[in-house]
Amino acid sequence: NSQLNEAYTFENYIEGDCNRLARSAGYAVANKPGTTSFNPLMIYGGVGLGKTHLVQAIGNNIKNVNPEKFVLYVSSEKFVNQFIESLKTNNVQDFANFYLLVDVLIIDDVQFLSGKEKTQEMFFHIFNHLHQSGKQIVMTSDCPPRDLKGLEERLLSRFKWGLTADLQSPDFETRMAIIQKKMQGDGIDIPDNVVEYLAYSVDTNVRELEGVLISLIAQSSLNRKEIDLELAKQALKHIIEDVETEVNLDFIQKTVAEYFQVSLDSLKAKTRKKEIVTARQVAMYFAKEFTSHSLKSIGYHFGGRDHSTVIHSVQTVSDLIDTDKKFKASIQELQKKFKSKAG
Ligand code: ADP
Ligand code: MG
Repeated sequence: NSQLNEAYTFENYIEGDCNRLARSAGYAVANKPGTTSFNPLMIYGGVGLGKTHLVQAIGNNIKNVNPEKFVLYVSSEKFVNQFIESLKTNNVQDFANFYLLVDVLIIDDVQFLSGKEKTQEMFFHIFNHLHQSGKQIVMTSDCPPRDLKGLEERLLSRFKWGLTADLQSPDFETRMAIIQKKMQGDGIDIPDNVVEYLAYSVDTNVRELEGVLISLIAQSSLNRKEIDLELAKQALKHIIEDVETEVNLDFIQKTVAEYFQVSLDSLKAKTRKKEIVTARQVAMYFAKEFTSHSLKSIGYHFGGRDHSTVIHSVQTVSDLIDTDKKFKASIQELQKKFKSKAG
């Protein structure tokens, strides 16, 4: 039993900027296991970003093309437990022999080996043997190898022999594509405006996005209603709080631009016209107050300005509030709008 789940394929693994390198390296390995320079292949990234899916897809692909190959997927947790069991029952040699037979070893979440010295020793031994015999090793981890605490240096240095590639949070377009693909796969119709709304609202990880879709499908059948925006908002409420009321950068920029009667684009443009500069500074001020964006990120969203410009803007607005009564009243009026939306 290879422990592979056939549901995880390359075909249903959506490609985006967030996973391009990892995906193409995985694809290369899947087509030429053990013979590319991507050995070991190490994929790392946060929870729910698609590590398990990708490495399972590699395994499935190899298995489909070369059914005679012994492809084995194992979680690090299982590896540890099996090893401990073999110690207890005096079967360590059998344990080792089994792994030495493998053609492609896929070991998931190696951060779990941290601090487990004996298991690491065994893994080191298996790793060396497989690698020397031209067998493919694929690993995942929730952080880059350099941050893997509690892993032996000699093991970490082996990880660097091959290729390390990361998975990032999916960008907006990739999230749209993932939603469309999932719903298509389930044979469920979903209007474009709902796809857009969900892709916009759930920007953390793919697993969470899937959770929302499941909830949405459930709501739809429960209410005997086709999927629409209203239903989507309802489904989202169960999962994420305050998405609707959240004061985000877009909202702040729109509201401030409207208030000062300047165009949204001008906030991000180079122009230094006085009324535009003021509106831009005010919007930055509120971005700092109401969002969790860093100064750098705020600058980025205002036409690629640097963080010192943001600091200067926030300071200027604070000073004006202290010295200019009329200006202060405007700020308070805007503040009320944001506060009521923030709930
Ligand atoms: P991880 O192992 O990194 O925690 P998973 O591989 O379990 O994440 O992915 C979580 C869920 O998201 C899975 O159901 C997976 O199929 C899905 N998923 C992740 N990335 C993608 C992607 N690029 N395209 C399609 N589905 C994805
Ligand atoms: Mg996983």
